[in-house]
Amino acid sequence: MRRAVCPGSFDPVTNGHIDIVQRASALFDEVVVAVGVNQSKNRLFTAEERIDMLREACAPFDNVSVAGFTGLLTDFCAENGIQAIVKGLRAVSDFDYELQMAQMNNGLSGVETLFVPTNPTYSFLSSSLVKEVAAWGGDVSHLVPPVVLEALAERLKED
Ligand code: ADP
Repeated sequence: MRRAVCPGSFDPVTNGHIDIVQRASALFDEVVVAVGVNQSKNRLFTAEERIDMLREACAPFDNVSVAGFTGLLTDFCAENGIQAIVKGLRAVSDFDYELQMAQMNNGLSGVETLFVPTNPTYSFLSSSLVKEVAAWGGDVSHLVPPVVLEALAERLKED
């Protein structure tokens, strides 16, 4: 069984994330989307909300599941029989940090990291940009799954 993880904070999940998850799901028997639940960043959505939105957005993919994780990603991989970490690379600017993380993780446990080049349609897309544009009333309907669009509208109405 070949199992991969797509890790991130997904605050919120975007179509760029989904594109990478879908492509990983075609390459591996199983893909786990692992949502970092640590409190280190200012989040718009709680871990539970982020996980629920991902579950809905990933429902069309039979071999994809969603889980929260804390602590080291390498421990999560070991505990779940995961051999590979799949990351999307948007631009060269992503590469420096991702390379460091990949090398660190490989040194910690031997887990491999595979980089998937972002679909050019989404190469400019990030969760933080989606939040910023949505907060100012911009249309992000082509950039996020419908469940996220609804949640953003709700959350921003509250603020
Ligand atoms: P972080 O937890 O580093 O804030 P995100 O939750 O935003 O990261 O994203 C998780 C991972 O998803 C990133 O490390 C990257 O591999 C991938 N990713 C993010 N945005 C895109 C995008 N627009 N296209 C492809 N992959 C992306």
